Amino acid sequence: MSYTSASALAAGTLVRVPLGRRVVSGIVWDEFASAPSADAGVELRPIGEALTALPPLSTDWCRLISFAAGYYQRGIGELALSVLPPQLRQLTDAQLLGRRAKVDKLLGGAVSASGAGSAPELSAEQSVVLQRLAEQARAEPGATTLLHGVTGSGKTEVYLQAAAQALAAGRQALVLVPEINLTPQLEARFVERFAGHRIVALHSGLTPAQRLRNWLAAHLGHADLVLGTRLAIFASMPRLGLIVVDEEHDPSYKQQEGARYSARDLAVYRGKLEAATVVLGSATPSLETWQRARQGRYHALSLPRRIGGGALPAVRLVDMNKAPKAKGATTPLAPQLVEALNDRLARGEQSLVFLNRRGYAPVLHCADCGWKSGCPHCSAWRVFHKIDRTLRCHHCGLAERVPRACPDCGNLDIAPLGRGTERLEEQLATLLRHADGRPARIARIDADSTRAKGALEAQLGAVHAGDVDVLVGTQMITKGHDFRRITLVAAVNPDASLFSSDFRAPERLFALLMQAAGRAGRDARQAGRSEMWVQTWHPAHPLYEALIRHDFAAFAASQLAEREAAGLPPWSHLAMLRAEARTPQAATAFLSGAAERAAGLAAADAVTLYPPVPTSVARVANVERMQMLVESPSRAALQRFLSAWLPALHELRRTAKSADSRILRWAVDVDPLSI
Ligand code: ADP
Ligand code: ZN
Ligand code: ZN
Repeated sequence: MSYTSASALAAGTLVRVPLGRRVVSGIVWDEFASAPSADAGVELRPIGEALTALPPLSTDWCRLISFAAGYYQRGIGELALSVLPPQLRQLTDAQLLGRRAKVDKLLGGAVSASGAGSAPELSAEQSVVLQRLAEQARAEPGATTLLHGVTGSGKTEVYLQAAAQALAAGRQALVLVPEINLTPQLEARFVERFAGHRIVALHSGLTPAQRLRNWLAAHLGHADLVLGTRLAIFASMPRLGLIVVDEEHDPSYKQQEGARYSARDLAVYRGKLEAATVVLGSATPSLETWQRARQGRYHALSLPRRIGGGALPAVRLVDMNKAPKAKGATTPLAPQLVEALNDRLARGEQSLVFLNRRGYAPVLHCADCGWKSGCPHCSAWRVFHKIDRTLRCHHCGLAERVPRACPDCGNLDIAPLGRGTERLEEQLATLLRHADGRPARIARIDADSTRAKGALEAQLGAVHAGDVDVLVGTQMITKGHDFRRITLVAAVNPDASLFSSDFRAPERLFALLMQAAGRAGRDARQAGRSEMWVQTWHPAHPLYEALIRHDFAAFAASQLAEREAAGLPPWSHLAMLRAEARTPQAATAFLSGAAERAAGLAAADAVTLYPPVPTSVARVANVERMQMLVESPSRAALQRFLSAWLPALHELRRTAKSADSRILRWAVDVDPLSI
């Protein structure tokens, strides 16, 4: 949209403008003169209010937004406004001036770094990494480096000191983490080290007022360090010098709705734009990142050993084909594993047992008539939660009390099938005892047990304090935590991902198991006897063989070879078109129509369109979801095609003839993570 203004406004200035009868927020995108250009008869309306209380957004910030909007096929204005704190759109200029004054007063003054926590002396390997980072930053500002370091190798310490160097050079540091709420300990570590510096957090758990305050602190240049989740990649930081992406392989860096951006990939772009060093850290890098490092497009540094020289846990595969058959349909716990857990109890060490399924059992079942606890609104089972005796759909949220008898035949004996974390906790409670007969102290951490505010912190605190013997949970407990007393980690049922239709499932499983293993033996004194147990029906699977050797490189090489043979990323580039409708026919019709429009485009020669298929859970809350994959060996060709195709899709949506063929929503996901 174009508007006129009485005075010249700098690009990047936030404004309020009339749109129809409403007033909406906008950003001055191109600097423009106060005199309205006499454009062929178009009468421009004047802007409403310019928010001059704040310095304008920088050219670099606007370029980041333009790039992201183009790449992920969204409108520039839509993306720009969606990544700014919501309150920026609501407050008047006078109110913003007030907020700014508060932030200036709170954070604008001089600081003393006297309260800062002291840094440990770096290991020789850490020193080399930091030195090389500094050299690279001088030789090639804005370059990206992959820091591949095994769990517990001191990567976080490298981030801390690299950030300290950026601060010492008068620049700002941005540290991205997957889920800040999952690892309060990490935030505490940064806060402690940078006490005396101005450090703010940016994530979706903040109140709107906190988010505005922290964003302002970054934008005004007061905050030296921003610690945040994926949305923080769009923080406005005038002196940006370093971007760290911790656990760069983590899927949570990809936004799953609206503009489906990858904060990790945007970090690489932003680093170049602002000559800021980019560090992508992981024990199990994404294959895309690994491949780029091998090709020399990223620098590569590594920390191959744990701090203190501790060994990585010995991996033991338990062949479940040889385990005693379980009663009912529950995967048993192998007797050897139970014994090993009891050994830990006897030695006063902690164990961690994980299972990626919350609730008591994934489905209830009537053996007489075959009824199962399906969700009436979704193509999924409702999960049995014993604690409050409910059947809950994890997709649409429908929750009902468990029926007393089978709803179809009246049989009183309906039974849980399979096992979730609640049931695992119950089983372990019956199996594990201290030598003196006391029951083991078991804590469960999953999305259910941590719903209350502060619950997660309290539970993690109990684990760190040694008040828990066995920690049971979902993948929430496998990520990032620096547990000091755990010597055994067990995955009781990880096989499902081996045979998933999603080509990234093995990569994710390997990362998950390596991460989980990394929670054991973090204290070098205990590392020698730390173990990772995996219950599996496929002990000869190459993924597990690589896991036993902690050999990420071998795993990556075999996966990359498979992907190359199949023409999958990183050897090709993908986009997914998804459509949602009341009927699968309508969703399919939209995708088929989209394919027809594609056929007429010149840019379509370099892409392959696959037939529409249902998403993995096709129906959610009575909405049917279909998807269609678009593939090209060339990223640029895919981009050209999408830009030509998208206008046709908007039109297709508008011209749907009958109500039957109408869809509710459609979206294109560039570089989709789940297939
Ligand atoms: P990673 O991020 O690779 O898992 P961390 O940075 O968390 O590793 O380091 C693992 C543990 O080792 C932490 O408890 C950390 O405080 C400690 N640590 C890291 N670097 C050093 C060092 N140079 N000297 C002593 N302890 C260190
Ligand atoms: Zn029945
Ligand atoms: Zn449902």
